[in-house]
Amino acid sequence: MAMAGTVFVSGGSGYIAGFLIRQLIAEGWMVHTSIRNLAKEAEVRSHLGVDGTKLRFFAADLMSDAGWAEAMAGCSHVAHVASPLPADAPKHEDELIVPARDGALRALKAAKAAGIQRFVMTSSMAAVAYGHGGAKERFTEADWTDPASKDAYPYVKSKTIAERAARDWVAENGGDMEFCTVNPVLVLGPLQSGDFSTSLEAIKKLLEGSLPGLPNFGFGVVDVRDVADMHVRCLNAPNMAGERFLCSGPFLWMREIAEILRVGLGDSARKVPRRGLPDWLVKVSAWFDPVIRQVVGELGHVRDADTSHAQTVLGWHARPAKDSILDTARDMIRLGIVKV
Ligand code: NAP
Repeated sequence: MAMAGTVFVSGGSGYIAGFLIRQLIAEGWMVHTSIRNLAKEAEVRSHLGVDGTKLRFFAADLMSDAGWAEAMAGCSHVAHVASPLPADAPKHEDELIVPARDGALRALKAAKAAGIQRFVMTSSMAAVAYGHGGAKERFTEADWTDPASKDAYPYVKSKTIAERAARDWVAENGGDMEFCTVNPVLVLGPLQSGDFSTSLEAIKKLLEGSLPGLPNFGFGVVDVRDVADMHVRCLNAPNMAGERFLCSGPFLWMREIAEILRVGLGDSARKVPRRGLPDWLVKVSAWFDPVIRQVVGELGHVRDADTSHAQTVLGWHARPAKDSILDTARDMIRLGIVKV
């Protein structure tokens, strides 16, 4: 049963937040959302394409106290989605850790002060599956990333430290405000605009043929519509206090993603590489390329998520990964993001 009150969604300009806001409004919720600068409101509204009377914009930055209280006034629920997800390696890890952690704490404090009943935070598989060594391949909600491990690159640290800090704060100060997290793997799916999330970069690189071969990388893949749907279920379901839900479809190697693109797109996938890229070559490239250096530890690693908890408690299911991958690819071609 949908509650359909008023919900605050942070980071309305983001990829996941956009799909979440559309689904919430379709289900009858009033939505408040924040962006860093209200000068972008008209553009974000036009991408969202929803009934404008159901949506209000507020200015709030993860790095500043201003605006959070106003944005949450009159709301009963919060989905805290905003967190930095840059395509480039940061100069210093604090560029990600500080806004992720302090932003979550700002949102929590404002929520408590506003009398919010339920606070759903978008965490990540990054807070679950790193620093366990290569032998462990399947993960559940009981697993936590070790942010001190050498596996944990700055984004991974930022999500782990932010979720930990949020849970600690709630345990200490949350009172009867219910807190839970949604922990997605790599998010793919349709695009609403040319402004796309970093998670779609891998598909872009495959389609445009900018990789010399297929590195031995793999990811759990989940559809943005299913990520939004899990957030909505977390807002609606009873008794969510303390809950944590892995949000994942299957784990796929780059070569399997490449094969899905070839079979689904035919000639449009002609630049997708066919050959594997040896690990040693990826490691050498990592000396020169800080983005590759961040993820070189992923080579050959399986990080598969057990989603039975979300299936049982929320009745949530992931759609076939093929649909998400091909929707990403077709929209990137349609919007001219890649020339094939
Ligand atoms: P996205 O499109 O890049 O969205 C990130 C959002 O965070 C944007 O709205 C961005 O605002 C906002 N943001 C960043 N820094 C901010 C700051 N200092 N102050 C205020 N807002 C700030 O990425 P997304 O995929 O939708 O990610 C949303 C959430 O899902 C994040 O918490 C991310 O960690 C999590 N997640 C994503 C994936 C994935 O594969 N995409 C997987 C697991 C978890 P601007 O538009 O102003 O930059």
